[in-house]
Amino acid sequence: MSKHDESSGLSFRQSVDHMVDRAIQIMNLDAGIANAIKACASVLQVTFPVKIKGEIKSFTGWRAVHSIHRLPSKGGIRYATSVDQMEIEALAALMTYKCAIVDVPFGGSKGGLFINPNDYTRDEMQKITRRFARELAEKGFLNPATNVPAPDMGTGQREMAWIADTYKHLNPDDINHVACVTGKPVAHGGIRGRTEATGRGVQYALREFFRHFDEVKKAGLKDGLAGKRVIIQGLGNVGYFAAKFLSEEDDVKIIAIIEHDGVIMNDEGIQVDQVHYHKSETGGVKGFAGAKYSPDGAKALELECDILIPAALEGVINEDNAKNIKAKLIAEAANGPVTYEADCILREKGVTILPDAFMNAGGVIVSYFEWIRNLTHIRFGRLERRFDEARGQHIVTALETMNNAPVPDWIKEELVRGADEFDLVRSGLDDSMRLALQDIIDTRNRDNKIDDYRTASYVIALNKLSRSYIDIGVY
Ligand code: NAD
Repeated sequence: MSKHDESSGLSFRQSVDHMVDRAIQIMNLDAGIANAIKACASVLQVTFPVKIKGEIKSFTGWRAVHSIHRLPSKGGIRYATSVDQMEIEALAALMTYKCAIVDVPFGGSKGGLFINPNDYTRDEMQKITRRFARELAEKGFLNPATNVPAPDMGTGQREMAWIADTYKHLNPDDINHVACVTGKPVAHGGIRGRTEATGRGVQYALREFFRHFDEVKKAGLKDGLAGKRVIIQGLGNVGYFAAKFLSEEDDVKIIAIIEHDGVIMNDEGIQVDQVHYHKSETGGVKGFAGAKYSPDGAKALELECDILIPAALEGVINEDNAKNIKAKLIAEAANGPVTYEADCILREKGVTILPDAFMNAGGVIVSYFEWIRNLTHIRFGRLERRFDEARGQHIVTALETMNNAPVPDWIKEELVRGADEFDLVRSGLDDSMRLALQDIIDTRNRDNKIDDYRTASYVIALNKLSRSYIDIGVY
C-alpha cells in the first residue's frame, strides 16, 4: 500500500479513484466504460544490477501505462524512495485525465525508480539511468510513437538527455529517436520554456482564475492576484518557478516557503531567488537570513494565507490536518497533495481547490510542443520569424507615411518583432491553461450537482475519454 493517507488506509491510487468515482456517479456513466477508463492498461516492473564503486547493486523501477486511447502514452519518471507500483499507477491515471482536461492528445503513463539520487555521484546516476532506459526501451516502454517519458520529482534535463541518447544508440535507424523523451536540454532537442513550464502553467492558471470575478468572490477572496499572501511547499522545479513568476510578475507576497528541512516565514514577503540560491548552496532553507525559521514545515501548511500552493509531495493535506487549513484557495501544483478524505473535509469547510490534474498540466502541454518540434525536426518560428518582422516593418512604414508622424518606439518594437520559440511556447501554454479553466468553470456552473472544480475537471476528462472508447468501440 502507498503511504498516501495512512490515517485512513486509502492508497494514493484509491484516493484518485474515489475522486473520479464522484464524477462518474454525477454523469451516470455506464459501469463497464467507467471501469475500462479507470483500469491501468499495463505495468512493467524491472530490477536490474549496476556496478557501483566495485559493488553490484540492484535497482527496482516501474513504468505504468494507464491508457492507450491516444498514443504515445505520456508521463514523467520520478526518482525517489517513496516510489512504489501503486504510486506510479495513480500518477499514470492522473496523466490520462490531465491530458484529456487540457486537450493534449496523449494517453497516460508514469515511471519511477526506487532511489535516493543524493546517494550517488553524477557518473553513477548516469550509469543507473542509462541502464533503466535500456530496460524500458527493450520492453517497449520507451518509444517516440508509444511511450514518451519526461522529468518529474528527482529527475530533470540531465536524465532526459541520457535517456534520449541511450534510445538513439539502441535504435539508430529511428529518424524520430529524439522524440522518445521530452524535457531534454535545448542543445539535445529540447524546447525553450520546458524547464519552467509547470511553474509557468501554475501562474497562468491563477491569472485566469482571478479574471473570473464571480469565482474569486465565491472562494471568499478579494479581486486581483496582486498582493495575495501565498504559502508554497517545495522549492523544486515546479515550486521555484511558480513562486518566482508569481512574486516577480504578479506582485503576490510569498509569506512562507516550506522545504524538507523546515519552513521560513516573513509577512513582508520572501525573495524567492535568494532562497533558491541559499537552497542550492546549503541543501535546504534553514539558515536563510531574510526570514524566520521553524523546523516544523508540515505545521506551516495550516498558517493563515490567501493561496496555499503545495508543490512537493502527495498526501500532505490529509485527514489529520485538513480541518486546520486556513487558506481560502489551494492550488495543487504537486500531484495528489490532497487526499480523498481531506478533499471531503475541505469542501465542507468551503475551501476552494484548483485540482492537480489541471493545475500542473503546464509540463505536459509544453512536452507536447517539444514532441511536435522533434517530429517536425524544426524549431518553432524558424520559418516565419524574419518574414513576420519584415511585414511588421512594412506596417510601421505605412503608418508613418500615411500619418506623417513616427510610430511611438514601444509600439514599433512590438510590431517589428517576430515571435521566437519562447514567445510561441508561452502563448500556447497560456492559451491551453486559460481554455481549460474556462471549460472547468463552465462545467461546474452548468450542472448544480457539481460543486467543485475537481469533479468538474474529471467530468470533462471522462466525457472525452468515454467518447473515445465509444467511437473506437470495444471488441
Ligand atoms: P523536484 O524534485 O524538483 O522538487 C521537489 C521539492 O520538494 C524539492 O525542493 C524537495 O526538497 C522538496 N521536498 C521534499 N520533501 C519535502 C517536504 N517534506 N516538505 C517540503 N518540501 C519537500 O520535483 P518537481 O519536479 O518540482 O515535482 C514536484 C511535484 O510536482 C510532484 O508531485 C510532481 O509529480 C509534480 N509535477 C512535476 C512536473 C514537472 O514538470 N517537474 C510536472 C507535473 C507535476
